[in-house]
Amino acid sequence: MSVTTYQNYIGGEWVAAKSGETFESRSPADADVLLGRFAASGAADVDAAVTAASEARASWRRTSAIARANILHKAAEILASRVNDVGRELTIEEGKTLKEGIGETGRAVQILRYYAGEAQQPDGEHYPSANPNTLLYTVREPVGVVGVITPWNFPIAIPAWKIAPALAFGNTVVFKPATYTPLLAVRFVEALAEAGLPPGVVNLVTGSAGGVGDPLIDDDRVTAISFTGSEPVGRSVAKRVSARGGKVQLELGGKNPAIVFADADLDHAVNHLVSGAMWSSGQKCTATSRALLDASIADEVTRRLTERIGGLATGDPLADSTQVGPVISDEAVNRILGDIESAESEGARLLAGGSKLEGDGRERGNFVAPTLFGEMNPESRFGQEEVFGPVLGITTVKDMDEALEIANSVRFGLSASIFTSDLGKAMHFINGIDAGIVHVNAETPGAEPQVPFGGYKSSSSYSREQGKSARDFYTQIKTVYVDLPSPA
Ligand code: NAP
Repeated sequence: MSVTTYQNYIGGEWVAAKSGETFESRSPADADVLLGRFAASGAADVDAAVTAASEARASWRRTSAIARANILHKAAEILASRVNDVGRELTIEEGKTLKEGIGETGRAVQILRYYAGEAQQPDGEHYPSANPNTLLYTVREPVGVVGVITPWNFPIAIPAWKIAPALAFGNTVVFKPATYTPLLAVRFVEALAEAGLPPGVVNLVTGSAGGVGDPLIDDDRVTAISFTGSEPVGRSVAKRVSARGGKVQLELGGKNPAIVFADADLDHAVNHLVSGAMWSSGQKCTATSRALLDASIADEVTRRLTERIGGLATGDPLADSTQVGPVISDEAVNRILGDIESAESEGARLLAGGSKLEGDGRERGNFVAPTLFGEMNPESRFGQEEVFGPVLGITTVKDMDEALEIANSVRFGLSASIFTSDLGKAMHFINGIDAGIVHVNAETPGAEPQVPFGGYKSSSSYSREQGKSARDFYTQIKTVYVDLPSPA
């Protein structure tokens, strides 16, 4: 079968890496499935992309917001017309189930539409002046060339929620997607290119962290970097970008708690604990990784979770019956198995899963059995660190104070849930939890694009993505004093 070689998109042209080298993208569910070859780019390709973005900057900035919005609308329609095909490719390339793959692609469409609307919202404010003859106002202008660096776990939604607002507010973009998911990046950029985005406004450069990420981060012409990924990489990116005076935004990891009280609807809570922890193989920054169970219902909920998690259908993500697909890579399997081993050695009690899965073709992919631990010590490494896989740990708590103390004891603060029918308890939790996103009676993942998204503490950089907050990162404020001539 012939294999397509995909290229970078620079200055409005699809071009090979200057070195001519390529890398492969293979399915995490089956290493025999090759999705394509992609440009293995380096510093020279990044330089060309940044040059193209810099050259396009002035005219894109002058393009009316209405014209920019029209292009985003058109890109949304193009992607919407392909949602099933692209969603299927997402499932093959990233490994989440087909329902999730199509759902995520639909989310990217929704984000494009949302920012087409946002582009047309007011972009400044008018103020009274001490001088009656002064017209005093602010206007938000683009920051310039934005570098967008994204992870593989939401290979089209995250690029969409960074690139759509960047473009809507008049910036040009150089996009470095994760090495594991270049095809979805190509699909997103194809929709923008076909929608009529002028050359140089969006540039895609595929390749490794060192080959593409490093030169992009260090290029002075790149005014701002929006990064989503792991905490150590994010911190080092921020240091480097800040050191050269650039603007930087980080969205990083989580160790998200869900607290269940005795007055909750337990069937509902268990459903949400399972989906929150296990869908997308637990590879969501907002995945539920800690279940904090009120002592009076802990045994019952643990029993139900053990049964449900132990029975999840794990396998080919394209199959209708599959609930949990593979994890992204062989290295991820080994890392997660290492975390499982270390959780056991720290005293957590293995209740379900805990091993690599093989058989039924799964030996060709990267499958970890959905895993449940009881007796997770909140102070242990397992209780503190992100696993980023299908692993949930249970800790029993005696009351709200203890639940909040444990929930807040980690350095992350992305998302948190409480399950209760007591409004007072819910409000106490909402007010006391250190998290950027709080759900009452729903799983910790789940975010709508019209509201701010981001975490407290080490989960973020005190900035927010999505919703109206995106305007803060992708624009800068100009304050204008117009002293009008006195009337004659
Ligand atoms: P990662 O290893 O940090 O990679 C993220 C992106 O950064 C990739 O494009 C990667 O390129 C690039 N990169 C890595 N090292 C770099 C360097 N030294 N310089 C420049 N770029 C570099 O993270 P990941 O494994 O893809 O993603 C998983 C992590 O992302 C988890 O911690 C998860 O919680 C977090 N996440 C957070 C959010 C959020 O919104 N808070 C959302 C999703 C995921 P390569 O692919 O080429 O290595």
